[in-house]
Amino acid sequence: MAAYGIDCAFERTGALDVAVNPHQLADLRDEPGFLDAAAVRAEVDSPTYLGGLWDRRGNAMLDPARLAWGLADVAEAHGVRVVENTGVRALRRDGNQVALHTGTGTVRADRVALGTNVFRSLLRRTRLHVVPVYDHVLVTEPLSADQLAAIGWRSRQGISDAGNQFHYYRLTPDNRILWGGYDAVYHYGRRMHAEHDQRPATFRVLAEHFFETFPQLAGLRFSHRWGGAIDTCTRFFAFYGTALGGRVSYAVGHTGLGVGASRFSGNVMLDLLAGEATERTELAMVRSRPLPFPPEPFAYAGIQATRWSLARADEVGRRNLWLRTLDRLGLGFDS
Ligand SMILES: Cc1cc2nc3c(=O)[nH]c(=O)nc-3n(C[C@H](O)[C@H](O)[C@H](O)COP(=O)(O)OP(=O)(O)OC[C@H]3O[C@@H](n4cnc5c(N)ncnc54)[C@H](O)[C@@H]3O)c2cc1C
Repeated sequence: MAAYGIDCAFERTGALDVAVNPHQLADLRDEPGFLDAAAVRAEVDSPTYLGGLWDRRGNAMLDPARLAWGLADVAEAHGVRVVENTGVRALRRDGNQVALHTGTGTVRADRVALGTNVFRSLLRRTRLHVVPVYDHVLVTEPLSADQLAAIGWRSRQGISDAGNQFHYYRLTPDNRILWGGYDAVYHYGRRMHAEHDQRPATFRVLAEHFFETFPQLAGLRFSHRWGGAIDTCTRFFAFYGTALGGRVSYAVGHTGLGVGASRFSGNVMLDLLAGEATERTELAMVRSRPLPFPPEPFAYAGIQATRWSLARADEVGRRNLWLRTLDRLGLGFDS
């Protein structure tokens, strides 16, 4: 970003993982750099914080839309043609090339890197491996100097709580709070629709949790609310592969964590297209694939059972038989 002068409000703030529940505290307490309640509240003052960990180097904050726009500008300046609003409907092998069919014409390419995220995969082989799970976000009005002083947050860390159903939040450059997460909503049949981006029930729950976390900010209003589908796979991080005799590579399944990781994934796709064994392509996480999700109605039933079990584990601090079975199979965040 610095090399290309992309202004995407990059801030190397690190991230705080906070315990808001005694059993979460037990998990964090033995980690190096543990902050007790007083120390973590000296950083960011919430009466819900019981302790936390501040990873100072491993995380940074940025504005992902401005990063994407900046990267597109740099690519165009280097001769890349960016074509928006043109859906590819099918891929076919065409001699030594790949033909990409759109509604209005066909583009031919020697090599194709597919980073289609949660949208319907052009490769049948990955369709069962990804389900769309909706995640939602609220953004407040800018905080006044007094409101900011009431919570501290001078180091501007990204924050998430240590629950299974966690909230993630940050300060924007103009000192709004972006507050998201908690609910993860799956619609039967892998359905995606623009209307799912707005979910009043989730926004109400998020607002309630916001004011429990920061009662000092009572009366603050939310100016923006949105949501989107994340490309969830069963191991919760991306997987990779090739198709059409190595002419196509793909990376999908970032499971809501792709802003930084998609850069790594882009390089993996280029290595795969070059047919080179590199340090990246030899990694077990690149060579292996997650288990697929089952077809409906089993996918829906399994996802609902997992959501229920995760919420229960957050309450009682113990993983039930269903979650322990998924853990043994290497499924989920702990895979
Ligand atoms: C509410 C929300 C909060 C999030 N928060 C975070 C966060 O805090 N940190 C983080 O790291 N990640 C976060 N994510 C996830 C992050 O946005 C994604 O992981 C990341 O954008 C994935 O990048 P990508 O390049 O794989 O996909 P995208 O950025 O979605 O790019 C894929 C592109 O492919 C295009 N496309 C797809 N299919 C076709 C086709 N057939 N023909 C033509 N074009 C096609 C799409 O239109 C899109 O432009 C969040 C996501 C949501 C919804």
